Amino acid sequence: MTAVPVAPSIPVARPWLGEEEAEAARRAIRSGWVTQGPEVAAFEREFAATVGAAHACAVSNCTAALHVALRALGVSAGDEVITASHSFIATANAVRYCGATPVFVDVCEDTFNMDASQVEAAVSPKTRAILCVHQLGMPCDLGAIVPLARRLGLPVVEDAACAIGSEVCLADDGAWVPIGRPHGDIACFSFHPRKLLSTGDGGMLTTADPRLDAAFRLLRQHGMSVPDTVRHASKRVIDEAYPVLGFNYRLTDIQAAIGREQLRRLPAIVARRRALAARYDAGLARLDGVTVPRAPAWARSNWQSYAVRVRDGRTRIAVMQRLLDEGIATRRGAMNAHQEKAYADGSWRGAPGGLGRSEAVRETAIVLPLFHQLTDADQDRVIEALARAVAEP
Ligand SMILES: *Cc1c(COP(=O)(O)O)cnc(C)c1O
Repeated sequence: MTAVPVAPSIPVARPWLGEEEAEAARRAIRSGWVTQGPEVAAFEREFAATVGAAHACAVSNCTAALHVALRALGVSAGDEVITASHSFIATANAVRYCGATPVFVDVCEDTFNMDASQVEAAVSPKTRAILCVHQLGMPCDLGAIVPLARRLGLPVVEDAACAIGSEVCLADDGAWVPIGRPHGDIACFSFHPRKLLSTGDGGMLTTADPRLDAAFRLLRQHGMSVPDTVRHASKRVIDEAYPVLGFNYRLTDIQAAIGREQLRRLPAIVARRRALAARYDAGLARLDGVTVPRAPAWARSNWQSYAVRVRDGRTRIAVMQRLLDEGIATRRGAMNAHQEKAYADGSWRGAPGGLGRSEAVRETAIVLPLFHQLTDADQDRVIEALARAVAEP
C-alpha cells in the first residue's frame, strides 16, 4: 500500500476555480468542438480587452508563447538574446529552442528583476532581442529597457508569465497601464496553476503589431495557412498550405472556456492579493533577519508570489523546514538557469558584471503562501511561524 501524502494545512498556492469554470468546461465539451475554436477566439478577444492590447493569441502554455514570440521575431541559430538567468528555466530554454544563446544579465536584489543598467554592455553584433521578465509578477524596469532597446534597434519580448493584473505608471499623465498593453513588442502570459489565472495549462501572446499576431497564428498551428475552423465553416473546398515550419501549440476550447471565467475573477484576485501582500509587509517589516520585497514607485505588482529574503542563505532550508513542520508550505524563489546542469558551459554567455546578485538572491529568497482564498487568520499563522523560525532557525 502506498501512503497517502498529507498535504500541508496551508499550501503555498491554490488556483481559484469554481462551479462557473466547471460549467464552462461542460459547455465546451457539449458543443462538439473541443480544440482551438470559438471559445479560444472569444478568450483572446476578452483577454486583449482586459490588458488593452490590439491582439491576443492563445497557445498551449507560456513556454510555447516565448518560443513563438522569439521565432516570430526571426531569432535563430547563432543569434543571442539578452535575458535573466534568475527566472524560471523556461525563459532561457525558449531562447535555446531557437538555437540561439541566452546572454544573462544580473538582477536587482530588491525586485528580483533584470538590472537595466547592465543591458547595454551585454549587446554584441549577434544580439537579436531582449527578453525581460516580470519576475514573480513585479514589473521590470520597462521605463529604462524599452527606450534603450529602441535606441539599439532591438525588439523587446516581455516574459509576463506571472504578470497578468500587474501595472506600471511610466507616462507623465500618471495613468496606470496593465502589463500586456504594449510596452515592448510582445508580452507572453501563463495560465499554469501557480499563476493568478489558470486553465490547467495555457498561454497567451499580446502585441500591437498585426504582422506579429499573424505570425503567431501560423506558428502555433503547424504553419498552416488556413486554420481548420475556417475550412470547417467554408461552403467551398479549401486545401491548406504550410509555408513555414510551425508547431502544435494550440490551446483547447475546453481550456479557453475555463479561461474566460477566470478572467472575470481577475479584479477580485488582484485586489485580494494586494491586500494580503500589504498585510505581509506590515507583519514582517519589524522582523529582524527578514527583508520584504519592494515595489518601485512606478510599479504595482499582482503579487503572483511574495518572496522574502533571509539574511543568511545557510539558514534558508532550516527556516522553510520549520514552517513545513507547522503545516505551512513555502518554496524557494526563482532559480538561476546558469547554475543548472542543463546549462553546461557553452550554452549561455554571462554579461559583463557577472551574476553575483542572481546567485545571492537564489540562496536567500523564500516564497510565502499567498492565494485568493488565504484567510487573514491563516496568514497570521504564517507570519508568527516565520518570526519564530528566523529567531532560531
Ligand atoms: C511559469 C513561468 C514560465 C512558464 O510558463 P508555462 O505556462 O508553465 O510554460 C515562464 N517564465 C516564467 C517567469 C514563469 O514564472
